[in-house]
Amino acid sequence: MNDQTLIADLRAQLAAQQAAHLYRRRRIQDAPAQPHGSSDGRSVLSFCSNDYLGLANHPDVIAALQHGAARWGVGSGAAHLVNGHTAAHHALEEALAEFTGQPRVLLFSTGYMANLGVITALTGRGDTLFQDRLNHASLLDGAQLSRATLRRYPHCNTNELNQLIAKDPPQLIATDGVFSMDGDLAPLPALMQIARDAGAWLLIDDAHGFGVLGRGGRGSLHHFGLSADETTVVMGTLGKAFGTFGAFVAGAEEVIETLIQRARSYIFTTAMPPALAEATRVSLRLAEREDWRREQLQTLIARFRHGAAQLDLPLANSFTPIQPLLVGTAELALAWSQQLETVGILVSAIRPPTVPAGTARLRITLSAAHSETDVDRLLTALAAIQLPPD
Ligand code: PMP
Repeated sequence: MNDQTLIADLRAQLAAQQAAHLYRRRRIQDAPAQPHGSSDGRSVLSFCSNDYLGLANHPDVIAALQHGAARWGVGSGAAHLVNGHTAAHHALEEALAEFTGQPRVLLFSTGYMANLGVITALTGRGDTLFQDRLNHASLLDGAQLSRATLRRYPHCNTNELNQLIAKDPPQLIATDGVFSMDGDLAPLPALMQIARDAGAWLLIDDAHGFGVLGRGGRGSLHHFGLSADETTVVMGTLGKAFGTFGAFVAGAEEVIETLIQRARSYIFTTAMPPALAEATRVSLRLAEREDWRREQLQTLIARFRHGAAQLDLPLANSFTPIQPLLVGTAELALAWSQQLETVGILVSAIRPPTVPAGTARLRITLSAAHSETDVDRLLTALAAIQLPPD
């Protein structure tokens, strides 16, 4: 194949993606984590961000980042195991261990890498691992990379999981705590019991639970009144409710030490900037103490769900800040999102392969930084949507 053929192939694939309404386009935002800003130069009200508690623009968090940069510089300069690990990282790990109630915590540069790291460190060729069908892409990719056999069970269906496990005992079961595109919760009490009975690790990706659920935002396990077993490993991200960037894994001493020795996505990458660790320590404290942010979220969620039900909109079964509207086809999801955009409201159209075919949706995310007036404006715009006939 010559260069021209290679480029022509890509051009054809991109055109096919566009024709299937699956093309993704970036926009230039001037205030990405804020409800009010501009997108491609037009003023917008946005319901796309995962900054659930409204901490990404908190003055104390910004000041901590600035002081951190003045103290440590901008880049960490190296991987944790070379010489990128600082007292700022260490202090954040200790604060997160106390927050989660787990023996030890390890920072990762992103949640995607944390999931790859845990799964590849704890499973390998010859093992079986089970995952919920709607788990985040990074958990599924981690399974591919581990070379273990990946089996997927129907969404939240623990009966089916039990039957599958009886035939093929797993080394690890992995689930989102809060499902990122659906907003519903994993049945953690049952999953913990199943993992215990099977003698398997339970990995909970609580990217969307930490900060939002449980007392002080301690996450999905706390929401259910559970505490982690020695064989429970919890992953949390810092770029969502905590408003900064990065991720962490919380677990037993031996698990964390194993990750340090074996997780390639930990070992072979640059440590997060120490200034970010400083900023996160401040946002963690705010997230924990300022219950009004979670209360404001609950008020907005109830208001949105009440209004959407009155309009007979296709609401999902979610009481978290992720409030999808299940519209069906990729084309419809795009049409809804484009109509909202014409009145200055930004909502992401989520299409395959992010979600299964036929379940395309608008992913509305609410934040404590939204006001009740913002939610009412969204509802008014949704009520006015006119779709072309089929
Ligand atoms: N897990 C889940 C459930 C997520 O929603 C995300 C982020 N979209 C990740 C992991 C990855 O986290 P990060 O953005 O920090 O890589």
